[in-house]
Amino acid sequence: MDEGLSKTDIMFNENLYAPIEQLHFDLFKEKQIELYIKREDLIHPFIAGNKWRKLNYILQDAIAKKKRHLVTFGGAFSNHLLAVACAGAKYHFTTTGFVRGEEVNNHMLALCRWFGMHLIFVEREAYRDKMKLFEENLSDNNDAYFIDEGGAGELGAKGCGEILKNIQNEYSHVFCSVGTGCTIEGLIAYANKNKMPTSIEGVVVLKGGDFLQKQLEDRNFNQANWRLHQGFHEGGYAKTNPELLAFIQNFAAQTGILIDQVYEGKMMKAIFTLALENYFKKGSKILAIHCGGTLGMLGIVK
Ligand SMILES: *Cc1c(COP(=O)(O)O)cnc(C)c1O
Repeated sequence: MDEGLSKTDIMFNENLYAPIEQLHFDLFKEKQIELYIKREDLIHPFIAGNKWRKLNYILQDAIAKKKRHLVTFGGAFSNHLLAVACAGAKYHFTTTGFVRGEEVNNHMLALCRWFGMHLIFVEREAYRDKMKLFEENLSDNNDAYFIDEGGAGELGAKGCGEILKNIQNEYSHVFCSVGTGCTIEGLIAYANKNKMPTSIEGVVVLKGGDFLQKQLEDRNFNQANWRLHQGFHEGGYAKTNPELLAFIQNFAAQTGILIDQVYEGKMMKAIFTLALENYFKKGSKILAIHCGGTLGMLGIVK
């Protein structure tokens, strides 16, 4: 596996392509604010956006511990499972994915299999205790490395903070979507450490996200420089409605940029709604982070 290790070293020094583009919509011109998007979705077609950022340090840790078998968890449309499957294939790890719920097939899981991931379907009840699943199935495997659902955790957050690396202090607001909260945690920590004069704002994509507010408060972050928006989940995690899908379609048709219905579509629609409600002061410069996940769109094509 020496060849694999050296190849992995090269990966982490790769120059990432995640440019910033300005978006021109009449609404923002009228309100005299500017909207930009950071194309983290372009980092890699299958190890996209924040999943690449998270795996960067996670895979380095696995290598340092001489573990070559990645074991992780996700739903049947998980961007994280796909990212781990592809990164595993690319950098010479074996991969196992525990999938929540009864056995199904879809384009995301098919891609995981094509990248060589071994999939194990587990009932929702058993899925809750991930460490137990890991220990029961892989305890005798010295090579196995546990990666939490969505790549959440300290290493994942550290990688996500670097989304803000090389960004000048020109944005009044940075927006991201919030699932586990790992990405925004990394962004806030990075902004704090570098004293960025920017408000880090998260659009929570699930219902009942108060635990996320508490999770961030418990980190003792400077309360003044971050905020969670809980009113834009559109009915709950992965729930959609005709207005949301029409918004996404209009956005795609006007920008050439696809945003998914689970995360980035909800974030972007929230930014538009907030602009309409005069949430942003004149002269605001907003940077929206596009964390990828675009392949999930195919799940709603009937
Ligand atoms: C996983 C994911 C998120 C959620 O990130 P968290 O760190 O779990 O909050 C947001 N957007 C996309 C496209 C994702 O795949």
